[in-house]
Amino acid sequence: MAVLIDRKGVAEETSRGNAGAFAFSDVIPLATSGILRKLPRWLSDPLGPLTIRPEYLPQITPWMIRFWRAGWPDRVAASLKAQAAMMRVARTEAEALIASAGLDAMVRHDGVLELYESEDELTKTARDDAAKSAEGIEFRHVRGAELAELQPGLSPRITCATFIPKWQTVSDPYDYAVAVGKAAMARGASFKQAEVAQLRPQNEGVVIEFTDGTSLHARQVVVAGGAWSKRLTAPLGDNIPLETERGYNTTLPGYSFDLKRQLVFSGHGFVVTPLESGIRIGGAVELGGLSLPPNFKRADAMLQKAAMFMPGLVTTGGRQWMGFRPSLPDSLPAIGFSRPSRNIVYAFGHGHLGLTQAAGTGKLVAELLTGATPSLDLTPLSPQRF
Ligand SMILES: Cc1cc2nc3c(=O)[nH]c(=O)nc-3n(C[C@H](O)[C@H](O)[C@H](O)COP(=O)(O)OP(=O)(O)OC[C@H]3O[C@@H](n4cnc5c(N)ncnc54)[C@H](O)[C@@H]3O)c2cc1C
Repeated sequence: MAVLIDRKGVAEETSRGNAGAFAFSDVIPLATSGILRKLPRWLSDPLGPLTIRPEYLPQITPWMIRFWRAGWPDRVAASLKAQAAMMRVARTEAEALIASAGLDAMVRHDGVLELYESEDELTKTARDDAAKSAEGIEFRHVRGAELAELQPGLSPRITCATFIPKWQTVSDPYDYAVAVGKAAMARGASFKQAEVAQLRPQNEGVVIEFTDGTSLHARQVVVAGGAWSKRLTAPLGDNIPLETERGYNTTLPGYSFDLKRQLVFSGHGFVVTPLESGIRIGGAVELGGLSLPPNFKRADAMLQKAAMFMPGLVTTGGRQWMGFRPSLPDSLPAIGFSRPSRNIVYAFGHGHLGLTQAAGTGKLVAELLTGATPSLDLTPLSPQRF
């Protein structure tokens, strides 16, 4: 019988407050030359789309060097190929999970608009467009009346957009994750609230030691502890360069804007999502580790930018949140066996794509645990690839 162990509960951390997108078409790794070119400008704005907390610079530097190397053209091509393969499994398995757990009502099928302030900005997405076309992802560029119909009320500063009609979002990521958890419990899984201190592989199985001094003997263990996973994997000899890209958002009441679908302001690093619980505005990346206090001025800054592009947005009455994206330098997750034991499987490091790739990851983990042939070549996702 499967036991889900979490120190807090189901989806109480990063999976609780994300932007709710099934971003199956996001196959381009973050460390592309385009992003690397924007880095100096972004880093010069302390509330911009990407910041490094100065006090965290020494710890993050090795990760940044790996991130820079991941942006070399041959590595981008390899990551893109692996991510596209992962996304095919992710899409198939998400559809299967949604159908089998009866979650269709929680999925919105109204697409996404990626918004631009000039034709020049749109032209710069040509490489991303080519990658999308190669993967068979349907999209079109929209302007004028068509853009205004897809999303009324935008500032004239927004001149054009890419519309991806088959993009899906969930009604609320927390509700969705809890519903998936309930579906697992209905099939025999159970939940134990406890903090894992350490894993001790044995000849037969694994001993899970908890911080309260108790322990549990398991036949097999899956480490899916998000950005905190390294604390369990490093003592096993797996030094995986897992860092966190902290993200911020504000969820406004639903009446704040007549939002038709998810909007992405790529040039400014934030998205706006229609949710059951309101309108969520946020994103951005802050490299600041797991312990520094949040800087909610980042959430405020994105809200102010959104109001600039969405005149009429009511910016009061919101709830602010920060989450810890678990990120590896090449934008691919770590899915595979631990170094010391094939009874321990790792499944973390999904960065910006954890909701999107959750069901696919579940499928791959199940294949590893049962000795079945994995649905894709797991070499590029190997936890030992660095
Ligand atoms: C602002 C923002 C927007 C995002 N938008 C999207 C999006 O639109 N689409 C998308 O696909 N992804 C998105 N993401 C990314 C996504 O949220 C993450 O990739 C995903 O939530 C990671 O899931 P996880 O289960 O690995 O980590 P988490 O959700 O953080 O879960 C890890 C769990 O492990 C538990 N844990 C850790 N250590 C221990 C321990 N020692 N003992 C017991 N329990 C432990 C924690 O309590 C926690 O519950 C976004 C992220 C952010 C921050």
